[in-house]
Amino acid sequence: MPRFIPAAALALALVGASVAAPAVLPASAPEATTVGEVSLGALPQAASEADGIERVSLATATPAATAAIKAKYQTNVSATLYSAGSGTKKLATVPADYTVATRTAKKSSDGKRIQVQYKSKTGWITLSKASKVSLSTKVGQLSWKASAAKNISKWCSGVPIDTSVNYMNQATAQVSTTNGKRKVTEKINLSTKTNWGTALNPNHPMAISIQYHECGHIMQYRAYNYDFAGLKRAMDKVYGTSGNTAGGVEHMADCISEALGAKRKGTESAGNGATRTWTSGYGGKCTATHLAAAKKIVAGKRV
Ligand SMILES: [Zn+2]
Repeated sequence: MPRFIPAAALALALVGASVAAPAVLPASAPEATTVGEVSLGALPQAASEADGIERVSLATATPAATAAIKAKYQTNVSATLYSAGSGTKKLATVPADYTVATRTAKKSSDGKRIQVQYKSKTGWITLSKASKVSLSTKVGQLSWKASAAKNISKWCSGVPIDTSVNYMNQATAQVSTTNGKRKVTEKINLSTKTNWGTALNPNHPMAISIQYHECGHIMQYRAYNYDFAGLKRAMDKVYGTSGNTAGGVEHMADCISEALGAKRKGTESAGNGATRTWTSGYGGKCTATHLAAAKKIVAGKRV
């Protein structure tokens, strides 16, 4: 029989925001249990940057826009589309994780920009803000899931990710043994929406901290070879449980997220001159000892 382990999930504490309804667990992990988690409620699917496949407009076609595609580049951060190989005249902003094609592969004289097509425009982007991708990569915006996968690919490459407006953020590992052969199934569930009820950009610092946190759980599971009781004992020993209701495993995942460079809190505009503050995870400080232990987990070692 498959042995299901408790899902370790991430609560989003939002200062001044109401807490959504109880979590809906993913169907694939019916026996997973969570304690003390805050779920994310329902909202229409984030669509702002998630679904575009751009086509070069024939109406504005130029020789540069109709020639065969020579290469494709995907932005890693948002990048200015410049009108020329030098200078600062701006045609557009290409969002992060957007694949553009070049039909000229022409580089600027200083080698820092490349000529590409973005939507109906031909312009130049800074090469250091993009990576060359295969010609089979679709032009346009990566899906939410693909952006999240890209953000954690260094540590959690290949771990299946499911996204939903209804998901609680969580990472699970299911271990089953058949004829003496063990099978491990890892999974990360991510919500595409905030507790404020707004669409969450997968590259928002809060989204990244959540992605790192959940990937951190996967790294914990792996470091302890899916011995979840042993993992809990070790994490509680390092991080302690006092003043931290979520326990060592969760604080650990927060500290892994911080060790990987995530911001665990932030303040941003809420419109109309108002600001809002968000805290990702369970709060509490990651001491130097905690961060050193977090780095050990990232390196695949036990603490
Ligand atoms: Zn967690």
